[in-house]
Amino acid sequence: MEYTIVGFPRIGEFRQLKRATESYWKGEITREELLARVKKQTLEQWDVEKNAGLSQIPVGDFSFYDQVLDTAFLIGAVPARYRAPGLDRLDTYFAAARGYQGEKGDVKALTMKKWFNTNYHYIVPELDDDTAFALRFDELKATILLAKENGVAARPTLIGPFTFLKLARFKGSKSAADYVPALLAVYKELLAEIAKVHDGWVQIDEPQLVKDQSAEDIALFKRIYADLLAAKGNKILLQTYFGDVRDCYKELVALPLDGIGLDFVEGKKSFDLVEENGFPEDKVLFAGLVNGKNIWRTDYAKKLDQLKRLGAVAKNVVLSTSCSLLLVPYTVKNETKLPAEVTRHLAFAYEKLAELAELAALAENADFASAPSYAANRKLFDEAALRIDPQVQDRVKALTEKDFRRDTPRPERQALQRKVLGQKLFPTTTIGSFPQTAAVKQNRSRFRKGEITKDEYDAGVRSFIKDCIALQEEIGLDVLVHGEFERNDMVEYFGENLAGFVFTENGWVQSYGTRGVKPPIVFGDVKREKAFTVPYITYANSLTEKDVKGMLTGPVTILNWSFPREDVPIKETILQLALALQDEVCDLEKAGVRIIQIDEAALREKLPLRRADWYVDYLDFAIPAFRLASALVKPETQIHTHMCYSEFEDIIPAIDAMDADVITFEASRSQLSILDSLKENHFETEVGPGVYDIHSPRVPSVEEIKAALRQMLEKIPAENLWVNPDCGLKTRGETETAASLKNLVRAAAEIRAERAS
Ligand code: GLN
Ligand code: ZN
Repeated sequence: MEYTIVGFPRIGEFRQLKRATESYWKGEITREELLARVKKQTLEQWDVEKNAGLSQIPVGDFSFYDQVLDTAFLIGAVPARYRAPGLDRLDTYFAAARGYQGEKGDVKALTMKKWFNTNYHYIVPELDDDTAFALRFDELKATILLAKENGVAARPTLIGPFTFLKLARFKGSKSAADYVPALLAVYKELLAEIAKVHDGWVQIDEPQLVKDQSAEDIALFKRIYADLLAAKGNKILLQTYFGDVRDCYKELVALPLDGIGLDFVEGKKSFDLVEENGFPEDKVLFAGLVNGKNIWRTDYAKKLDQLKRLGAVAKNVVLSTSCSLLLVPYTVKNETKLPAEVTRHLAFAYEKLAELAELAALAENADFASAPSYAANRKLFDEAALRIDPQVQDRVKALTEKDFRRDTPRPERQALQRKVLGQKLFPTTTIGSFPQTAAVKQNRSRFRKGEITKDEYDAGVRSFIKDCIALQEEIGLDVLVHGEFERNDMVEYFGENLAGFVFTENGWVQSYGTRGVKPPIVFGDVKREKAFTVPYITYANSLTEKDVKGMLTGPVTILNWSFPREDVPIKETILQLALALQDEVCDLEKAGVRIIQIDEAALREKLPLRRADWYVDYLDFAIPAFRLASALVKPETQIHTHMCYSEFEDIIPAIDAMDADVITFEASRSQLSILDSLKENHFETEVGPGVYDIHSPRVPSVEEIKAALRQMLEKIPAENLWVNPDCGLKTRGETETAASLKNLVRAAAEIRAERAS
């Protein structure tokens, strides 16, 4: 049986790509050096994939920043403002990805959004009336030729035209349909060019198909593919992932495709679709059976059984992953500190390659049950369940309806809080973290390496906190933060302080661009053993007359940015987390902290891709979990929350139902499009839509911020409006941060003065 994967990680086993790219940005290495390093890494990775015995290797799954942005550059959909400064191609690409401010001009980055239901972010393509697609095949061509030269059984991979169009934002007067003829022409040219240098399979990703499809969507999809496939020169694999294709399965199998890739892990209906409708004999089913998104070992007995079921329906089956391995780290081999009891349950990208090989071999072995690989796998799954704590489980079972509610209704609380906390109109604040300077990072790494004691480390953190409070007072912010210098990552830090998690040393996955995250692994039942945020927060509060927010990461976000267990339902782990945080919230309040922020940065991203599943599979327990964490505080204690990405227009009532007093969120990158919906829904929570984009180093002007605030005031009652950046400032430099915040405070003061006069 043949086996393959949908895509591979690209950041490098030890994040070499990050280091190379950032050095290039700083001017420390040349473009040639950067390209040389990428080439070396690409060749090494292909070797790994070759040695693993994959029959086809995805090529073109590499990206400097994001594959959707790559597609935009490949087909010439680059907005004029990025071309205007006259930067070369690579720098134009980086300008579109992260903004550019320099000798040649000043442009903001394109919008960034979460890639379907993951924590990976893509750059939103922007199409305007002047967009004229034009193929730039040279880079992809070079990669394909390089693969050929190196004996790689390449399968060039592309983001499909349907998904591209659906993800795009239309800036001019045209709509999606208007772009179809030109888009088709450029994709056809692309396929023709590929066929000139490549003989074999081409993979076209259309993950958009796993979302709800309207009749028009399906018509558009059919129209695109009927035309595109008429001219194909290679075998085409249409690859889907992150769900099932229930709205268009029949249309899909009727197309003249050579292969179809389906996700049998997240696709709740994938088996039903195939079994009820059959699968055409002339096509290959790329069966996504090995989970590309989680890090647990694959249960061979279960998967062999599933393969058998598929084999009964489909004549040609290639074993594959459910999605690209981009979403898991490279290898368990680089984990030296985890006990064997843990590591034997884990499979990262390399281990998944080995699992595919073993599974494929077992699938052809009539006597698989006596194979050693099968026996070893069986033993793993017969082992006792992962670390269980009956007390934690009982506490969750004992919860009742009233445990999820604050006693005083929100409008009463808000009035009381304004009075007790003395908050003026348009309070200014930040989201929590301040720049993680070299000194901050050094303090942490020296402690980790054992070069300084816990007390020395602590003294370091306290000195950063002290400087941060002084800086915020100088800038004139109203509600302060301690700066989060003790946190390497907002989820990792919480995982480290709660029982039930394990951590990797090198388990990085790409979040956006060169930013990686190292998600903790939920390895058992979760609880908090002792207060951990209280000491730094109370220290920060002792340094100033102003309020410093207690800063926590919420239950939903902790879980969404971790690798969850597969042996217990998500709902149960979320409630365990909520109770652990509730303990911390109560301790902060007891210590005199009057404002507590519980970040739910990642609440939106695990919203099921299909509307029918939103509440039952998610919101019905995610929203109560947030309330559970904050339910026990006094009415005058102000609960804030923060969410990244304002894409919650369609779940505004659910956001309001979190019953927070204040919410801050990203808004500047999405042009404040959420304001109307807030107004329409009579949003009750006080709001701070971010007034500038922190993902970019550019400094917003006072005028720019004032303009944003004026726009907000058209839709949000003045007494509900907060003024803050988009998100935490940890990735920013110190100079641009101080400059930006000064402008923010000035803008708020000027708007306040305008209203008073
Ligand atoms: N409080 C966190 C910070 O400021 C929130 C980060 C986030 O939303 N991603 O860093
Ligand atoms: Zn954020």
